[in-house]
This record gives sequence, structure tokens and C-alpha cells, in this order.
Amino acid sequence: MDTLEQINCEVVACKNCILSDTRTNTVPGEGPENADIMIIGEAPGFNEDKEGKPFIGAAGRLLSRLLTNAGLTRDDVYITNTVKCRPPDNRNPLPFEMDQCKKYLERQIELIDPEIIITLGRFSFNRFFPDETIGAARGKLRKQGDQKFYPMYHPAAALRQDRFKKLLEEDMMNLRSLLKDIYISTASTSSKEESMNSGEQLSMF
Ligand code: SF4
Repeated sequence: MDTLEQINCEVVACKNCILSDTRTNTVPGEGPENADIMIIGEAPGFNEDKEGKPFIGAAGRLLSRLLTNAGLTRDDVYITNTVKCRPPDNRNPLPFEMDQCKKYLERQIELIDPEIIITLGRFSFNRFFPDETIGAARGKLRKQGDQKFYPMYHPAAALRQDRFKKLLEEDMMNLRSLLKDIYISTASTSSKEESMNSGEQLSMF
């Protein structure tokens, strides 16, 4: 049976695209296997490549602060990227690289089976919705099949322009009430119900 550990091991050894030539470390992802919320960014940056962990630089610190505003912590979410190795000079990941790496992301999603996927930035959003724009889609809950998605701008964009920061803060606050609704509507399934009754999930809000 597939496990996150198995996927991580395969990512560490992966040489399926040219990003393996320039990476220091792979960055498979981090968080609990039973996370209800999965966050998918674009690609590791300088600090992530150095440490092998996702979202630990300035954008990561902003993301952590935004999660706190939504009543969440990093321990509540599984965080990963569309590609698991840093593109040189933080350039955008290329279609071939994203394509080669997608099998890891797909297996992570299948294993974690999150209630909701938060996409950060256009590369992550377009990975699932290739013909749409993040500007029009951000901050609105949507479904693809049975999977719920919540697109947001990337925190790195918010570090560059204040207007993105305001929109991110707004979208994260809206997420807080959306999550309440999601937990209430899924509380009929036994495992969620037990969690809700014990206050485990609602304590996040
Ligand atoms: S980016 Fe993905 S496909 Fe490319 S080498 Fe890294 S793990 Fe492999």
C-alpha cells in the first residue's frame, strides 16, 4: 500500500527532470497524512531547497500568519508544491517538469484525501483548472468531481505587492467560515462526527 513515506523516498531519489541537477534537497511535502486541508504551492525556493521543507522562507512565514488568522496551524495542514525540486533562480516551473512531477502530487492527494485543497498561485491553480485565471477564481470555493478547491494568490505575490496581501488576508478569513460549513455538512460520517463531538476539529475555529 502507498504511504507518504514511500512517496517521499521516491521523490528523494527522483531524477525524472532537469531540476534534479541543480537541487540541494528535494521538498516532498510536510504535514499529517490525515489532514483535512491540503495546501499546494508552486515550487520550493532558496530556503526550502536548503532545508528540504516547504514554505519556510518569508512567504512561508506569511502563510503561517494567515493560517493563524483562519484558526489553523501548520500542524493542521499538509503542505506541498506542484514540483518537488527548486527551479534555478526561482524561475517558473516548466510544463515538462510539472508533468514529470505530477504523479507524486496525485498520489499525495489520493492518500491524504483532503476535504479541501487550497491552491496558492496560478501554477498550482492551473494544474487543476488550466483554462481559467486565478484573478477571477480566487476566494471562491469550487468543486472538481468530489474534490473541493479553494484558490488563493501565492503569498510570495503578497510580499511583492500590498494589494495581494489584502486579498490573501480577506480570502483566508473567508476560508475560516467556509471550513466551519464544510465540517458541519460532513459531520454525519462517523469519523468526522466523533471528531466534532470530541471538539477536536471545531477547536480549530
Ligand atoms: S521536480 Fe519532481 S520530477 Fe523533477 S526531479 Fe524533482 S521530484 Fe523528480
